[in-house]
Amino acid sequence: MENNIRLDGRRSIYVEQRDCISESADSFALPVATILGKCTVVVGPWKYLWASPWSLWGASIGVFGLMTGGKVRRCGRILEFWGGFIPLFLRYFPFIAGSPVATFGHVVVGRSPRHLDACRPHQLIHVRQYEHWGPLFVPMYLIWWFFLLSRGKHPYYDNPFEREAYGATS
Ligand SMILES: [Zn+2]
Repeated sequence: MENNIRLDGRRSIYVEQRDCISESADSFALPVATILGKCTVVVGPWKYLWASPWSLWGASIGVFGLMTGGKVRRCGRILEFWGGFIPLFLRYFPFIAGSPVATFGHVVVGRSPRHLDACRPHQLIHVRQYEHWGPLFVPMYLIWWFFLLSRGKHPYYDNPFEREAYGATS
């Protein structure tokens, strides 16, 4: 199962049971606390600054989403974008292809508000990781990705950053 990794969007590495939302799931069935996550956590300005290179990258995707009919909202310390070209981005962009949402610094892009709600607790762990690692987060994530691949492990589910996020939310 885990050897069959394709990033073409038809059969993604994000298998159903570990996905934070299935196509039929209804986020309104989730407890309010789960939906809200910990949006309200307040962090110092240096954390925004430290994570800002990736926040800017995420905001660029978000702005392009807005220009193509997408929307934005704020949830505490994060900005959430969805719609427009963002679902296409999430479907085809390398490493995140097939994911319902993706986090870049303090920006989260998602297929829809429903996906953003359901995935928020997991994504907030990634936000915290960006606040810790700053510009180094994505390089570290990718180093782990290729290291795990080279060892015959799963680059996503065995990735320590994902294990922390899944461990904290399951
Ligand atoms: Zn994740």
